[in-house]
Amino acid sequence: MTGFMKGKRGLIMGVANNHSIAWGIAKSLADQGAELAFTYQGEALGRRVKPLAESVGSDFVIPCDVEDIASVDATFEAIAERWGSMDSIVHAIGFSDKSELKGLYADTSRDNFSRTMVISCFSFTEIAKRAAALMNDGGAMLTLTYGGSVRVIPNYNVMGIAKAALEASVRYLAADYGPRDIRVNAISAGPVRTLAGAGISDARAIYSWNSDNAPLRRTATIEDIGGSALYLLSDLSRGVTGEIHYVDAGYNITSLPTLERLRK
Ligand code: NAD
Repeated sequence: MTGFMKGKRGLIMGVANNHSIAWGIAKSLADQGAELAFTYQGEALGRRVKPLAESVGSDFVIPCDVEDIASVDATFEAIAERWGSMDSIVHAIGFSDKSELKGLYADTSRDNFSRTMVISCFSFTEIAKRAAALMNDGGAMLTLTYGGSVRVIPNYNVMGIAKAALEASVRYLAADYGPRDIRVNAISAGPVRTLAGAGISDARAIYSWNSDNAPLRRTATIEDIGGSALYLLSDLSRGVTGEIHYVDAGYNITSLPTLERLRK
């Protein structure tokens, strides 16, 4: 099946470089003929995002820092002006102060707690509201989460709390927009080596543990995540909303390490 996203317009938020999860998703949508717009955070990332956008035939690249609500508004004004309407949105944005992605969760500061929640969680609600106002029936929204929302992952700390709230937001937004035939889902990705991923202390060890112990004996790639995102953003999943879909090579179903490791 090819070209089944032809005529669909989607906004991708969260590409930092060609290792970003958002980029894996953008590629899979573009491969199926979707027309894409991209946002970037700050001029330094803009210089990376613009050529990537061009490589998938897009010259629609907009600066957006979700801490600045005026830039979020300007993003959707630009979409309204150029496209008039849209079909999908990908929110692949997360941030927490690196110095608190290690040690005890209990040591999280009030400032970093608030900032992490606004950028990594509440921005999805603010974006969803603005996107829904422009969305055609049958539209779809997608955000990215991690299993540290439901289980304790060392060093993930306040991000785990933000992801739990993000997953709850997915369910509430799905209920809000379901009557308009707009679907809202999340992918819970396994660990991927990205800029954001590298901010978590011991990221390499966590990555290796996942690939050694997941049923598929590897971690998910950005191409794997892109494939699942294509399903969740297309009509193939038209009966699915409010779902947290794991793309983690099966790691989340395990409780103990593999027998080989246990017997060592
Ligand atoms: P990445 O560093 O490539 O992308 C993170 C993006 O967030 C960047 O593009 C950055 O510019 C953007 N961002 C941060 N603060 C922002 C702000 N104030 N305004 C606008 N954009 C902002 O890393 P990634 O791993 O591709 O992260 C994408 C999403 O996937 C995040 O939500 C992350 O938590 C989630 N995720 C990552 C992993 C992993 O292991 N890498 C696993 C599961 C979920």
